[in-house]
Amino acid sequence: MPHQQPQPKPMQMLKGIPVSPGIVIGRVFMLGEAETHVPRRELEAVEVDLELQRLDEAFRAAMADLVVLRDRTEQQLGREAAKIFGFHLGLAQDPALLGPMRDRIRRDRANAESAVADGFKLVTEQFKSIGNEVFRQKANDVLDLERRVLGKLMGEEESRLSALSEPVIIVAHELTPSQTAGMDRKRILGIATDLGGRTSHTSIVARAIEIPCVVGCQRVMERVEDGDLVVVDGDTGVVVVRPDERTLAEYRLQQDRFSSYRRALRETAPLEACTKDGVRISLLGNIEFPHEVESVLANGGDGVGLYRTEFLYLTNDHEPGEQEQFEAYRRTLELLAGRPCTIRTLDLGADKYTQQRAHEPERNPFLGLRSIRYCLHHRELFKTQLRAILRASAFGPMKVMFPLVSTIMELRQAKMILNDVCEELDEEGIAFDRGIQTGIMIEVPSAALLSRAFADECAFFSIGTNDLIQYTLAVDRGNERVAHLYTGASPAVLYLVKQVIRSGRRAGIDVSLCGEIAGEAIYTMLLIGLGLRTLSLVPSQMPLIKRVIRSVDIPHCEQLARRVGSFDSERQVLNTLRDELRKIDPDSFGGWIAE
Ligand code: PEP
Ligand code: MG
Repeated sequence: MPHQQPQPKPMQMLKGIPVSPGIVIGRVFMLGEAETHVPRRELEAVEVDLELQRLDEAFRAAMADLVVLRDRTEQQLGREAAKIFGFHLGLAQDPALLGPMRDRIRRDRANAESAVADGFKLVTEQFKSIGNEVFRQKANDVLDLERRVLGKLMGEEESRLSALSEPVIIVAHELTPSQTAGMDRKRILGIATDLGGRTSHTSIVARAIEIPCVVGCQRVMERVEDGDLVVVDGDTGVVVVRPDERTLAEYRLQQDRFSSYRRALRETAPLEACTKDGVRISLLGNIEFPHEVESVLANGGDGVGLYRTEFLYLTNDHEPGEQEQFEAYRRTLELLAGRPCTIRTLDLGADKYTQQRAHEPERNPFLGLRSIRYCLHHRELFKTQLRAILRASAFGPMKVMFPLVSTIMELRQAKMILNDVCEELDEEGIAFDRGIQTGIMIEVPSAALLSRAFADECAFFSIGTNDLIQYTLAVDRGNERVAHLYTGASPAVLYLVKQVIRSGRRAGIDVSLCGEIAGEAIYTMLLIGLGLRTLSLVPSQMPLIKRVIRSVDIPHCEQLARRVGSFDSERQVLNTLRDELRKIDPDSFGGWIAE
């Protein structure tokens, strides 16, 4: 029989949600859990020995864990209960299991993960086919051991990643915000995930570190293999798997166009964010880490409008203490050199941090013990942070902002605790800004609806549309299945935004907006027209937003806001906003415009 060459796999196009702009072309690096995905690839001849070693080490490490588990179980529950691990250990040393796996690596040049998965599959099927309940049960134990061994192999992702000689495109089912925050731009070209939404924190972080990213592709993990060539188009949300020559050439052209467009925009960064009729709009940066201040300044920002302090928790393997937090805040102020900084108290919970640590995970995390609720519940943690903030306030202009406030009592409690901390510092003779302003994020409909009452007890509001949209429309901001329903163009959301601005104006307090729509050019005219004069956004979007601001005048924006206020569908709102932007700046569409 003639030897048949394997057919090359065809090109595939996937559509996801574009969340961080730019086009990148590179090889896939799959990040995945052992249960959800096993990377398969053919080894080079020189890799075979190393792969056999990896296999042996993974088994050795799994067995070491099993011995610890067996001994602990025997101590706590007795010898009978510990027998289960005896079976696992026996199986892990069985040449009938390991032999075929080694063969697959040697003979077929399969990588260790796929050799392990195939070897275990065979054994599981044998157990199942015996047709006896006891053996069927054993099949579950086999699965358990498989997960353990694969976990050892795939847990080495970090070191595999650092050993790569060329930068890669990360493909994953889902990434946590902290995984994304830890990514190194020199090694990671782009990201594509199955899950996620435009304002999930993973997306926000990808945008902040300027890694092109498409989320919500639903089945990208299934369609690619480690090492495949892919294109990630963070502008349109397209992921092309194994592109053909023509497609590649087209994307390379677009890549060049995008780069020169961004370069041209960057040059305008130092210009004033002033409308044509001379009204200055303050552009502040949203940051997660102190070093991002450099990006705020390089992009022409006036300061920091939202410092998401919880990221210090997310990227640490320990709980940061007062001194560590204080140093991060002081560093931020030093980098800002006299420019203002609004620091948000810990917004832990929901998709951030507490879930992994909770004994009893939240059943409905976005409606659970998160943000200010979590802080009021964990008072010592809250006080530690407030002490760090107040101590840092002696080093530059700073405001304190409480997230996710939904009742007036929460605000009062938070302010009371802040007062207690002020008194403590006073007694200890520690310097801090006694006139520090406190305000809240308006990101829950109840706070928006009661904004008149809140305005009497706050120095400022910052409208957090990321959450306000999700709570007003009952749409999970991180869920790709309902992403089509998640939009800031919703007349209901815009109605609330308008009420908040009105309440703030009536009470004479500052109102800004720090949700992601502040960095989306189609909303700029509308937000100015609604009366906002301060926007806080991801630094990389500042030049584009500045360009829009410099091309419009206030009466035009106000007229647009009035017109949009009369619409009752998000489609109408979006179409109008898009048309208006196109009129003033047709070039913007060469760049990144969401929605
Ligand atoms: C918001 O909800 O709009 C916001 C800015 O906060 P975060 O995205 O951190 O929830
Ligand atoms: Mg929020």
